[in-house]
Amino acid sequence: MGRILFLLIIAFLIYLLFKGFLRAQTRRGEEDRKNEQKVEDMVACARCGVNLPRSEAKPEGALFYCRDNPRCIAGP
Ligand SMILES: [Zn+2]
Repeated sequence: MGRILFLLIIAFLIYLLFKGFLRAQTRRGEEDRKNEQKVEDMVACARCGVNLPRSEAKPEGALFYCRDNPRCIAGP
């Protein structure tokens, strides 16, 4: 009887460890997702070479230009 109880306790401990491990994995996945959202693709302006987030750049064909810099948006 004592042996069965011992096995049950071991099984319970393994279950707790497994549950904690799963939760840690899930939390790490969420953090990764959060970091991915924070780190945006950086592109270099084709005219002045400044690196800026893709959302702040003005795409023109395959190239990107600074949206805030009038000199970069204007043609040659
Ligand atoms: Zn530029």
